[in-house]
Amino acid sequence: IVENHGRDAHRLLSMLREVQRELRHVSPTAQQTVAETLGVCVTRVRAVVEFYSFLSAAPLGKFDIRISDSITDHMLGSRDIAAYLCDALAIRPGDIRPDGRVSMAFTSCTGLCEQGPAGLVNGYAIPRLTRERVDRIVELVNHDTPLSDWPEALFAVEDNVRLKDRLLANPVKPGASLERVLAQGRETIFEEIETSQLRGRGGAGFNTAWKWRFCYEGPEEVAVCPPGQPAAQAERYVVCNADEGEPGTFKDRVLLQSHADQVFEGMTVCAYLVGARQGFLYLRGEYLYLHQRLEGVLAERRRQGLLGEGILGRKGFDFDIEIRLGAGAYICGEESALIESLEGKRGVPRNRPPYPVTHGYLGKPTVVNNVETFFAAAAITLHGGEWFASVGTEKSKGTKLLSICGDCSRPGIYEYPFGVTISRILDDCGADDTLGVQIGGPSGMFISDKEFGRKLAFEDLATGGSFIVFDRTRDVLEIARNFTHFFAHESCGFCTPCRVGTALLKNLLDKIGDGHGAAGDLAELSRLGRFVRSTSHCGLGQTAANPILSTLERYPELYQKRLKTIDFEPGFDLDGALAIARRLSGRDDENAHLTQT
Ligand code: SF4
Repeated sequence: IVENHGRDAHRLLSMLREVQRELRHVSPTAQQTVAETLGVCVTRVRAVVEFYSFLSAAPLGKFDIRISDSITDHMLGSRDIAAYLCDALAIRPGDIRPDGRVSMAFTSCTGLCEQGPAGLVNGYAIPRLTRERVDRIVELVNHDTPLSDWPEALFAVEDNVRLKDRLLANPVKPGASLERVLAQGRETIFEEIETSQLRGRGGAGFNTAWKWRFCYEGPEEVAVCPPGQPAAQAERYVVCNADEGEPGTFKDRVLLQSHADQVFEGMTVCAYLVGARQGFLYLRGEYLYLHQRLEGVLAERRRQGLLGEGILGRKGFDFDIEIRLGAGAYICGEESALIESLEGKRGVPRNRPPYPVTHGYLGKPTVVNNVETFFAAAAITLHGGEWFASVGTEKSKGTKLLSICGDCSRPGIYEYPFGVTISRILDDCGADDTLGVQIGGPSGMFISDKEFGRKLAFEDLATGGSFIVFDRTRDVLEIARNFTHFFAHESCGFCTPCRVGTALLKNLLDKIGDGHGAAGDLAELSRLGRFVRSTSHCGLGQTAANPILSTLERYPELYQKRLKTIDFEPGFDLDGALAIARRLSGRDDENAHLTQT
């Protein structure tokens, strides 16, 4: 495996994924072998194995089943389904069955939020789990049926596109945008992207034209080219971030499943403008089922002369795209963590500045945009900036794709011009008796029914596209609790405020949720939440307390109702904590116990 990857340590994650596929785990011996063959320290290999949740140093079952623990899957009955599955397989979560045939665990969001409960078998997605489908899975496992022989219908993932606007209603034919680029030249297309005022669709909303220009004009020497010629090809990279891990987000899944050609077209346009020869699609591990299909699209584009050397016959216009798979780490959606992962390391966010646009992959200028941004850029290149910017608001031009799920009768993908109100969206998706909406996933904001007149736009409610509806049967505290557990699990552990703070927030919320909360705990939640927000290194920690702070602000009475009427209640079992001391000292008299009142 290591040889097949040219002993290139930057490909370590890909190697370890393959080792795991062959051996069902990455054993300490395998880690040692990989390290020695690569000529790197074994601790580097071990650190990568320990970082990614889809890699395991301990053996997994021949069939490794993971059930999504996302809030949207909970709402669709994932806990019952998981319990039913465990009973049927005679296994407990986190265990491997004694015969080694099957292991089962929970995982973070699988990106199938509108067709859950969902799970993964050996990394391949299975949506809409019912008891009948679970019975079928159990039968296949117990008969040791190879995964390749499992019925295709089990793995069928639907698109559920409900509303099309500018982008989805006007797909770009393969090569059409590139022909326009070559006919009009770089400056004209740069101007079109500028006129469109396209902002990154991941949520932060940085101006796309500026980012591409910074990369083009970056610190590397770039010769000034005659009009219509590609940039001198100094080393630059284009990276498509397809690691949408925010619970409630699945629009990129649909774009990659049904519009991958247009996404690759957008990346190739970008490559021409900035002068890159190499691109990467960083595909989240949960979308493994799309990998082969995407490789097929790339192969077809090479055959059509839309990738490779001399694209569309233009000498010097060379660009190709490689797909790299992630391995179950939410933090790799952060662009600098993603680049670390691409370089075969743990996905720990870098210090910024410098930004990836000047010092990205291998320290070279790198454009990182998400799937929807490249998809939109291809359309803007073909139809023009005015076409795109003629809808939307003053600071948020164009349309936005939303992934809508939760308590509504028509979940799926909706495309709206920016500026649409929450109430309009709720009407369209069939939401009824709505308590509130989580905008932008756990890192976003909980909006109460008093705020449904607000608008989706960078100047009001910015979003990467997640829109989760909660009706009045839902428990606000349980929603905040699920999101807080998510962040505590996904913290990369690099900085103390986030690593320790998210764990403390989780413990405190569990204490209140389990009925042991006291008056001082709410003030402590708020204080700690603000501390984690203001002192964490990256966006994950800076937004981890949002679910607590935004629900505490809107529904203080719901938190108050869960408190006991005393001033202080310890967050742990005092007497239990003394058990080790009692055992070591050989004492068990009355004075060796503490009573918790
Ligand atoms: Fe890692 Fe959290 Fe620190 Fe970000 S804030 S670097 S996720 S520990």
